[in-house]
Amino acid sequence: MGSDLVHVLLVSFPAQGHINPLLRLAKRLASKGLLVTFSTTEAIAHMMQKANNNITATNTLTPIGKGYLRFDFFSDGWDVDHPQRNDLDAYMVQLNSVGPTSLADLIERQASEGRRVSCVINNPFSPWVLDVATDMGIPCGVLWVQSCAVFSTYYHYLHNLAKFPTSSEPHISVQLPGMPLLKADDLPSFLLPGTPYGCLTELILGQFKNLSKASWVMVDSFDELENSILESISPLVPITPIGPLFKSIDTESDSTSVRGDMWKAVDCLEWLDSHSPASVIYISFGSVVVLGGDQMEEMAWGLRNSKRPFLWVVRPTENSADTRLPKGFLEEIEGQGKVVQWCPQDRVLSHPSIACFVTHCGWNSTMESLSCGIPIIAFPQWGDQITNAKFISDVYGVGLRLGHPKGGPLVTRGEVERCVAEMTDGGPKAEEIKKNSMKWKEAAVKAVSIGGSSDKNIQAIVDDVRGRAENQNGPKADV
Ligand code: UDP
Repeated sequence: MGSDLVHVLLVSFPAQGHINPLLRLAKRLASKGLLVTFSTTEAIAHMMQKANNNITATNTLTPIGKGYLRFDFFSDGWDVDHPQRNDLDAYMVQLNSVGPTSLADLIERQASEGRRVSCVINNPFSPWVLDVATDMGIPCGVLWVQSCAVFSTYYHYLHNLAKFPTSSEPHISVQLPGMPLLKADDLPSFLLPGTPYGCLTELILGQFKNLSKASWVMVDSFDELENSILESISPLVPITPIGPLFKSIDTESDSTSVRGDMWKAVDCLEWLDSHSPASVIYISFGSVVVLGGDQMEEMAWGLRNSKRPFLWVVRPTENSADTRLPKGFLEEIEGQGKVVQWCPQDRVLSHPSIACFVTHCGWNSTMESLSCGIPIIAFPQWGDQITNAKFISDVYGVGLRLGHPKGGPLVTRGEVERCVAEMTDGGPKAEEIKKNSMKWKEAAVKAVSIGGSSDKNIQAIVDDVRGRAENQNGPKADV
């Protein structure tokens, strides 16, 4: 069965915001007739297997379209419950030192089991994956999981191609090709002088270290959305939009049921079914952001005071199951709102009862909302979220901003209530946002449909991968 399939290995950085788009790419490549192995660390595999039924044993193949998807994992050298796992600095040292050998072993094992790897694709947070692949003579690619605008901003900063704020000139604005003027408050916060997250700045800029080794640099965006930026950055780095990966058309039911959640999703679709169309406010700040106690309190009472039905994802904090909701809040919102610790966001945003999305503006959440035509209330906290919020409100025209552009100080309950009301009361601004949201939804669907701009780009990459595999010696995957 399928003994002529070309085998591609996808290696994800161990974080939800990286796993989701890479797993979607995995399904997309499989649907075009490749054998795809999705890999990340064993510790994350442990979480994914606890949360989902379909992340199965390594010898199980899930048929997707014309190809197959399977999973295989590698060790980062630490036990699942290692006490330093949440210390990003320490963890990066560990992953960077153990990862390359573990991954090389996994790649060798594929060949010995009759599935020679013909191409490796990774997230750029682990640039060493490209070293491992090229040292083994395997062509490789990268999936950039933020916007082209942010890619271009980091690139110009790293290569000194534009003047950015410094400690002596902290407030200067930055003009980059194909973009509106970015004020200091619109820039990814890791680039600002005095950022408290030096380790993250290093990690972010480190992503560019090995890009020249990649034969393909893909981005989860689409041509129509970021055309002028793509045109201006392409002569510097050829970057190929292949998204929104979330919107890719899955014809096989098996494909949609394979999920990469790191936490068990609470099924809230029945609850959504009980609400009228475009009535529910959905609130989530992704997998990393944790709001401060005071901000949680203001958000909570603002939502209650809005009197609209709402679904709110509140992650437990790192050290306890305590969600820091105000005392008595859950009783107060009975019959109005629902609070869950994790939900199937892709399905929630696709549900007709959703009116708008209060989001931290992570790029995955942004693309998911945009592809579903859901208006956004932007509440960015740090990093690229700040720049995404600027584009959401001023360039794509699909959202309002809550509070100060660069996050903090405290956004009051009154401001939350006012913003929700403005978005749902049918005023001219809300109507314009709705119109723009529907326009982008249509463009997103078109881009990933057969023959659309992103679909053509993926097909060209698949053809190239196949062509290169045919020029390599030895048998292909024997599945
Ligand atoms: N997500 C989800 N359920 C939730 C919250 C988030 O499935 O309850 C998913 C969301 O659909 C997105 C990812 O988690 O794909 C979060 O990525 P994003 O880039 O938005 O934010 P990050 O977590 O990286 O800050």
